[in-house]
Amino acid sequence: MICYDYINEYVRKTIRKNDGLLIELEQFALENHVPIIHPEVGRLLTVLGNMKKPGRILEVGTAIGYSTILMAGFLQPGGRIDTIERYELMVERAKANIKRAGLEDTINIIAGDAFEVLRCLDKKYDLIFLDAAKGQYSEFLPECLRMLNQGGLLISDNVLYKGMVATDELVVRRKKTIVRRMRDYLDSICNHEQLETSIIPIGDGVALSYRK
Ligand code: SAH
Ligand code: MG
Repeated sequence: MICYDYINEYVRKTIRKNDGLLIELEQFALENHVPIIHPEVGRLLTVLGNMKKPGRILEVGTAIGYSTILMAGFLQPGGRIDTIERYELMVERAKANIKRAGLEDTINIIAGDAFEVLRCLDKKYDLIFLDAAKGQYSEFLPECLRMLNQGGLLISDNVLYKGMVATDELVVRRKKTIVRRMRDYLDSICNHEQLETSIIPIGDGVALSYRK
């Protein structure tokens, strides 16, 4: 929790809850320690998505398919989502959940390491959601920018990583490299001439980058 607990508790009990399959997936994620987006991040994505109305979305880090199913809710009619996941067990779970949601024709899971997959993709996207290995965001960035439409949105999750990114006092030794890399990533997207970036301290930290 990177925000005051009382603020988080209040926000979580005030914002709209999901229903149906998404609630079930939230429960599954909690019980099985799958790091899905936090509820307040889900609401932020939903607001931005409703404003943007993306036709094509790319997600890096599918896990059980929770955020991808949520994002399908604001896709333009006939829109498509490509989502990348390297962990075979998660790919299988996501496939099953996407089928249950009736979204097999909308969401395309690409199994493989994002670094390899991104280099092979050559499409344009209106929204790119980065939610995978935190130490690799800088490597993903050039590929993401190559495929992000002008006026598109790059949303990066977990950018404050339990607060460690903001202060050395919280950094545990084995996370030092990841934290350093995340700081470099934030410096890149904040100073990139094609991007206008805002860092929002909700959930585990979310960065919003608008492609000018
Ligand atoms: N976006 C999901 C949660 C993703 S958790 C949601 O909110 O519902 C992060 C996922 O990214 C994990 O399942 C992990 O296996 C995957 N991942 C991490 N690094 C990756 C990489 N380099 N390539 C592909 N998948 C990766
Ligand atoms: Mg995340």
